[in-house]
Amino acid sequence: MLERDGFRFDTGPSWYLMPRVFDHFFRLLGTSAEEQLDLRTLDPGYRVFREPEDPLQPDPPVTVPFGTAKVAETFEALEPGSASVLADYLASAAHATDMAEKHFLYNPFTRARSLTGREVLRDLPRLVPLLTRSLERHVAGRFRHPVLRQILGYPAVFLGTDPARAPAMYHLMSALDLDEGVQYPMGGFGELVTRIERLAEAQGVEIVRDAEVTRIITTGAQGRKRVTGVHWRDGDGAEHRETSDVVVSAADLHHTETVLLHPEAQSYPESWWERRVSGPGAVIVLLGVSGALPELSHHSLLFTRDWKENFSAIFGEDPRIPDPASIYVCRPSATDAGVAPAGHENLFVLVPVPAEPALGSGGADGAGDPAVERAADAAIDQIARWAGIPDLRERVVVRHTLGPADFARDYHSWRGGMLGPAHTLRQSAFLRPQNQSKRVAGLYYAGATTAPGVGVPMCLISAELVLKRIRGDHSAGPTAVPTPARTTERSR
Ligand SMILES: Cc1cc2nc3c(=O)[nH]c(=O)nc-3n(C[C@H](O)[C@H](O)[C@H](O)COP(=O)(O)OP(=O)(O)OC[C@H]3O[C@@H](n4cnc5c(N)ncnc54)[C@H](O)[C@@H]3O)c2cc1C
Repeated sequence: MLERDGFRFDTGPSWYLMPRVFDHFFRLLGTSAEEQLDLRTLDPGYRVFREPEDPLQPDPPVTVPFGTAKVAETFEALEPGSASVLADYLASAAHATDMAEKHFLYNPFTRARSLTGREVLRDLPRLVPLLTRSLERHVAGRFRHPVLRQILGYPAVFLGTDPARAPAMYHLMSALDLDEGVQYPMGGFGELVTRIERLAEAQGVEIVRDAEVTRIITTGAQGRKRVTGVHWRDGDGAEHRETSDVVVSAADLHHTETVLLHPEAQSYPESWWERRVSGPGAVIVLLGVSGALPELSHHSLLFTRDWKENFSAIFGEDPRIPDPASIYVCRPSATDAGVAPAGHENLFVLVPVPAEPALGSGGADGAGDPAVERAADAAIDQIARWAGIPDLRERVVVRHTLGPADFARDYHSWRGGMLGPAHTLRQSAFLRPQNQSKRVAGLYYAGATTAPGVGVPMCLISAELVLKRIRGDHSAGPTAVPTPARTTERSR
């Protein structure tokens, strides 16, 4: 979160997807998403701008409305006959989501039989092709229109990979944005964090801010190690030691393993990471803009025509910032007046780039490193041209950028990436690092770099997986909610 001149910028997530997961999390805390958050359903869900054929003339955007029937009409208008194909596609996506929630996402994978239940075995003929085929092939076999292919393929980027490398199983993501719809918590994701923080504090949790863990302390010989606490440094530079027989690290797993632990205590040493694939890095451009920007939806996606080239710039042999880039723009001020001063708009622009800290850091008002500021300038000009806002650059009153080096420095993120290890097949489900150290008893892991993976809903599930491990609960599905939610008014 960054506050400047009356603008309140979220610097991270902005898509509230998988509402059931959020609600389940809140219910485990004795409340509900409805009680805690003021959720608005976005209509339209988002808008897609395609790289214009004529560089001087924007192509008309494709607006993805809220509601399955209206989405089907949009598909049909672009590709006759595609509405019925979409219906099958979304039915399959909904089924895959259901199976994932019941059997895989909340599964600590501590018992093999949790994967051999009757329902999973019965579904194998359907599941196996979804694991062995790429999302790109899955989509290309069903839809011809390039924008429709992009709409169905881009969720792979949410998972830190590209549609050619993501297993088709992740077509389930389309059940979220196209079927269930996209929501926004008023106040942004910062509000979600505040709510969780308050619930924790109400239960007696002490939250120490501006603190850096410098070491996870372990004891015992090889093979019988256990955690005994952490060393940490406060904001004034004073060193502390905290004793505990349970430590949960929600920091980037590469940092936890290779920096905070002694080599003998590492389950995932540097050599392990050398054989793994990072998700993308990001150049983020936070803009305060004077006047209204009705051309942009709350969420807008700008897709290049040569998508393959775009992904190959980010993930290929010769990593570079794509130009033009496929970028994402969030305009939360479309829904939430609290994020910008009156008469202004708040824009969050995300340019996926290689996970490479050498690309540099961002800064205020153009003071970032050259590659980051160049990418920011290019993104602003691209939005101006593709969305038909010729004076966008002149209307910018606040500008702040972030680059991969900021992610590496501020969050200790592996390779300066924004999402952690990519969700390729080899780095998903039980093949992703799980939530417990293999070498140190009492040490647990949560967050996007561990299981089940990337995205806020997954991180909430990762917390539940830690709980299951501590309790010795081997069940595959969500934990039963102990008491019904209270029905008090949402407290503000
Ligand atoms: C730009 C961006 C946009 C995204 N958009 C979406 C979206 O729209 N929807 C969605 O669901 N997901 C989105 N995601 C993904 C989602 O935000 C992440 O998966 C999730 O927030 C990761 O949470 P985490 O707790 O694992 O890590 P973090 O949120 O990074 O938290 C880890 C914390 O640990 C701290 N830390 C690290 N090392 C130490 C140490 N040694 N001592 C003390 N603290 C330490 C870090 O500073 C950090 O604050 C987005 C991510 C990014 C970067």
